[in-house]
Amino acid sequence: MSSQHLNDIGHEPAVEGVCGESSPGRGYDCAVADCLFCKIIAGDIPAERVAESSRTLAFRDINPQAPTHVLVIPKDHYPDLASLASSDAGLLAEVALQAQQVADAEGIATSGYRVVFNTGAEAGQTVFHVHAHVLGGRRMAWPPG
Ligand code: AMP
Ligand code: ZN
Repeated sequence: MSSQHLNDIGHEPAVEGVCGESSPGRGYDCAVADCLFCKIIAGDIPAERVAESSRTLAFRDINPQAPTHVLVIPKDHYPDLASLASSDAGLLAEVALQAQQVADAEGIATSGYRVVFNTGAEAGQTVFHVHAHVLGGRRMAWPPG
């Protein structure tokens, strides 16, 4: 049960959540109240979905920074990359695989694309439900801003 993921490593939801309650038909079982991306998963906030698996969802960023800018998220709530990686490495791999599948579908897999996990405030993370940015369709600069 997903609430164990959180409790096993000492990460509690930031606010009261519903982890562990089944949500028939929604395909996920761990949501956190007042989390924007949990609401997108639930369908409470609209998003342009481009791919979905039983445990992951990909949708277009509302403020795209490149011709392709898609966010890939686990349907279970983890606040950041560290909490996901330490709790469910298999789910992290599913996120990475879906990022690759999105790049393929968007026609940027061969030309090249960037996958970014902003982690923490100084890195620019603003939504604390872990997400991979899949960016492509233009030349990327390095170092990033
Ligand atoms: P980060 O700053 O790395 O936490 O990324 C959060 C991303 O979520 C930003 O690129 C936002 O543009 C994006 N975002 C915020 N609200 C929405 C939304 N309702 N639908 C799609 N993307 C969103
Ligand atoms: Zn969430």
